Amino acid sequence: LTYSLDVNKNTSKRMSSIIPNKTRPESIIKNLIKKLGFYYTNNVTTLPGRPDIVFHDKKKIIFVHGCFWHRHFGCKKTTLPKTNKKYWIEKFDKTCKRDKKNLKELIDLGWKYKIIWECQISDLNLLENEIKSFLED
Ligand SMILES: [Zn+2]
Repeated sequence: LTYSLDVNKNTSKRMSSIIPNKTRPESIIKNLIKKLGFYYTNNVTTLPGRPDIVFHDKKKIIFVHGCFWHRHFGCKKTTLPKTNKKYWIEKFDKTCKRDKKNLKELIDLGWKYKIIWECQISDLNLLENEIKSFLED
């Protein structure tokens, strides 16, 4: 198995497209948001980070981040593959820097954001409350 250095930006999309749509964390979160009665816009490519869940009227954004790809600190899903360590470290570093830059730009543009980590969907009741308090605040 070999990795090339130019695959970076599409890898996570490709990985997640393998998993059936209905079980993807994004879909679960979106269903939860709909159930709560909030309306959002999908995949806004004109904003930094191309956020997937955008509440224009509230100027708020929810990101659903995969723990592995976005390096959820202290999470058990945030592992480092045993082979090609250097490649992965560089890749993760790039992703984290890009995330940071995007979030900073969003703040500068006056947006508020919340990051939901994929591991949080293990407790949907708690998540529901978090989403509510973020959006109703
Ligand atoms: Zn996590």
